Amino acid sequence: MDIDQDFARAFPELSVPHAALKPPQPAIARLNDELAADLGLGPEHLRSTDGIRFLTGQGPLEESDSFGPVAQAYSGHQFGQFSPLLGDGRALLLGSVPAAGRAPATAQHPSALCPARLDIHLKGSGPTPFSRGGDGRGPLGPMLREYVIGEALHHLGIPTSRALAVLRTGETVMRERPQPGGLLVRTAASHLRVGTMQLAAQSQDDGLLRRLSEWAIDAHHPSAPDRAEERGTSLHLELLRSVAIAQADLIAQWMSVGFIHGVMNTDNMTLSGQSIDFGPCAFLDDYRAGAVFSSIDHQGRYAYGNQPAIGQWNLARLGECLLPLIDEDPNAAVEAATGVLGEYADRFQQQRTRLFAAKLGLRLPGEADGDLLEPVAEFVDQTLRQMEEQGEDFTVFFRRFHRTDSQRREELQQFADRSGLDVDGSLADQVNPVVIARNGHLQRALNAAETGDQLQLEDLLRALASPFESLPGLEHLSTPGAEDGAGFRTFCGT
Ligand code: AMP
Ligand code: MG
Repeated sequence: MDIDQDFARAFPELSVPHAALKPPQPAIARLNDELAADLGLGPEHLRSTDGIRFLTGQGPLEESDSFGPVAQAYSGHQFGQFSPLLGDGRALLLGSVPAAGRAPATAQHPSALCPARLDIHLKGSGPTPFSRGGDGRGPLGPMLREYVIGEALHHLGIPTSRALAVLRTGETVMRERPQPGGLLVRTAASHLRVGTMQLAAQSQDDGLLRRLSEWAIDAHHPSAPDRAEERGTSLHLELLRSVAIAQADLIAQWMSVGFIHGVMNTDNMTLSGQSIDFGPCAFLDDYRAGAVFSSIDHQGRYAYGNQPAIGQWNLARLGECLLPLIDEDPNAAVEAATGVLGEYADRFQQQRTRLFAAKLGLRLPGEADGDLLEPVAEFVDQTLRQMEEQGEDFTVFFRRFHRTDSQRREELQQFADRSGLDVDGSLADQVNPVVIARNGHLQRALNAAETGDQLQLEDLLRALASPFESLPGLEHLSTPGAEDGAGFRTFCGT
């Protein structure tokens, strides 16, 4: 088995070797057979005693003398407050494996990431030197929640980390109440976060920062060097630009399906552009720009409608880290980085307009410029305002838009005629999911799973794997449940 601690070897400064806790009674709650097969990790093998040893971080799948988990060190702005040293307090990196066999991005969503290697990472694997008094554990429910949401995003064509498995540990962990312990085994293009760069930027010599930036470019943004050469700019400015564009595209995609990450701290934002670490995340039910579901987000910092601005705020923190590498002249460095933050805003707005136009079935030419995009964005905004006033369910509204004769649809047709655009209901059907991981349905499935009954969870995962169609027998998962609405709360289980 080709598992390699390439990151830890290259960055001993950012990796602390640490053994995973041995769970008293490990048992697989859910194995991602499809992903396991893509990675060449035989699902049957993973279910064996050896496989479970591997999934719990106790040893390699096959003979190897280089197996050794590490806790990664990073900093982070949490709800705007800077913590100079966070790090994996309940997580460990096992290493990376080749991802060559993975299915390519879909035609609909060509931007989905296809990295050459994928990290295998444990969450809930016991305390580490970064635990700061925490128990290092994960409750089963929140670990399964992360599994489900990763699958939901993946099948919607949105770049994301994905779980390989969730195991029961056989322990009981205390959160709001005693809960069964869980261990998440996840894959991601890497675990490089804005916060990783924030830690490297604190070191006295800029060698570490430079190496980390180059590593990130190599792993995730291979087009940056050519761009730097063409434009005569710094390679590190091009890293910032690449991350900014990847995040603009990602957050636009989140917005287009009503996804709320919930904890967009700088330590939960990747350099790759994949979604990661969505603890108290949720999908919108009724459209509300200010929707917040997380029980820990009292100020609404990470509300649905704030996500694009928070993305930019986080990128500004990344830009600050890179300044010394961008230009020797501090003023020139600030000016260049500020320019990229402006590009992020433009790119986000453009992508958002395109995605929402498609949701309405408006066909835009590939080369649409501001003169066309601006009125389209205005129409989208107006539609969203009306949805909010009328308490429309976000997902249902877009899916039904072309199936009902509404005044809104007539207005769209008139708008399209005026702008010389085509309206196409089948285009809308390709991008508007029928099924999302609705709060009520997901919570009910997780509650049942806690008691050992995973039927609802299996149904939900099956439905989420084909989000653009309604599967026979699973129709109930596309309708809002009675629990949905503004009062619903999600917990991250930290
Ligand atoms: P999160 O909000 O899940 O991204 O976690 C923020 C920080 O808290 C990270 O450094 C985590 O490793 C740490 N953390 C979260 N939960 C625990 C826990 N139960 N024990 C130890 N550290 C934790
Ligand atoms: Mg985190």
